[in-house]
Amino acid sequence: MLTTRRDPIVAIATAPGRGAVGIVRVSGSGLEPLVRALCGRPLPARHACYGPFLERDGSAIDHGLALYFPAPHSYSGEDVLELQAHGGTVLLQLMLARCLGAAAEPDPTTGQPRLAGLRLARPGEFTERAFLNGKMDLAQAEAVADLIDAATESAARGAARSLSGAFSDALQGLRERLIGLRTLVEATLDFPEEEIDFLQQADAAGQLQRLRQQLAQVQRQTRQGALLREGIRVVIAGQPNVGKSSLLNALAGAELAIVTPIAGTTRDVLQQSIQIEGVPLHVIDTAGLRASSDEVERIGIERAWAQIAAADVLLWLRDASRAGQQAYDLADAALAAELAERLPAPVAQLQVWNKADLLEPQARTESSAAPPTGSTLQNASAKTTAPSLHLSAKTGSGLDALRQRLLECAGGQSGAEGLYSARARHVQALAQVGLHLHEAEQHLQTPSPRLDLLAEELRLAQNALNQITGQFSADDLLGQIFGSFCIGK
Ligand code: GDP
Ligand code: ZN
Repeated sequence: MLTTRRDPIVAIATAPGRGAVGIVRVSGSGLEPLVRALCGRPLPARHACYGPFLERDGSAIDHGLALYFPAPHSYSGEDVLELQAHGGTVLLQLMLARCLGAAAEPDPTTGQPRLAGLRLARPGEFTERAFLNGKMDLAQAEAVADLIDAATESAARGAARSLSGAFSDALQGLRERLIGLRTLVEATLDFPEEEIDFLQQADAAGQLQRLRQQLAQVQRQTRQGALLREGIRVVIAGQPNVGKSSLLNALAGAELAIVTPIAGTTRDVLQQSIQIEGVPLHVIDTAGLRASSDEVERIGIERAWAQIAAADVLLWLRDASRAGQQAYDLADAALAAELAERLPAPVAQLQVWNKADLLEPQARTESSAAPPTGSTLQNASAKTTAPSLHLSAKTGSGLDALRQRLLECAGGQSGAEGLYSARARHVQALAQVGLHLHEAEQHLQTPSPRLDLLAEELRLAQNALNQITGQFSADDLLGQIFGSFCIGK
């Protein structure tokens, strides 16, 4: 592997402010002279050593634990020194200054600076080096940041899984299959007369199909993981005055949106982020959907449709107290038709009846026993019919059931263990892989396939896959190709 010499770097690794312990960390190559200067002696590898941290004149700045990790068995893959001192702001600044000073001073034995070029690290630079030195791939490096930034328990668990390599392993499984298939196709390119037979015998189509299935599985886990990390977008939509703003307020537990008895009050989009059992949800209130001649209201309605198009879950709110009134039912039917037409397929839909408090007890049971048509909870993968939900934004009854249902939509409870903390970047790259594999399949299915085009799609699929982990080497493909064929063939 090509190793580039990089500047040594130093930083305070613990959070700013006072704490029990504060850590200063140095990474670079050839750290021994610095270790001797700061700790007064050479340190054994990977042992916690208690002692003084020395000033230039030999006095102690502080006493604490020093840990020395010689390359390559360290976080960054370079020599790393960690000094664990007391966690005081001024003290840590002194420690940092002392590291820089000791590095610049000449070493008594060589007369050269102990660690030439030591400088303050940029954000993420220790992890960047870990990636550059092959200690982790890009997806894992991102998981480090995600683990630190995790705002919810589920996000933290997902990031930990990705950091431990679960996501990278799944990608590696895909990559191996893809390389196997590419090897086959590229080899066939050299024997144009027999190419079709050869591919058929090797079941190239079957291999490609299995690859696409495996990809679909990884995509599902990744999409769910991305939802858990970034939060699911729940858009509340419905006719004016059904209680959308009231519901947003009830879920958020605050007077956020303006609630009024005049239809058409919410003319813009309001958002509130909440957590349900550690899963982040962005709940969005929209303008009431109805035919309107008011210019401002019409703009609000178009924005509402834009929100609906970008939703993960559409919460279609209806007014149980007005159900059965002709004008209301007609408008609802029109809205149902428009939703059926304009709602993108992957958006899950949850139908909810509000103002249950205004219903006679008997009417309530009747309407829940016979939910209106189209009352379904849809998912990208599964279509299940769920009974419609009755609640009251005013009294709060039924809200817990709604929270539970939203959580199910997010895949929050059950499947969380198998998910990866993926970023939007990963989801997009996997979609790219899928597109190229689809193209490849099209090529393969034509009567006399253009193998060069097929090979190109597979190459592009692998590039997209490699973007996720940050490896872009044609070398491993070449190695596979030459390694799996005998010389002279
Ligand atoms: P939006 O236009 O859909 O956002 O509806 P609002 O949230 O502004 O509510 C319209 C009216 O319905 C207001 O007068 C609310 O107080 C009332 N309202 C909302 N939810 C309920 C409910 O669950 N029960 C009752 N009785 N009234 C409600
Ligand atoms: Zn409103």
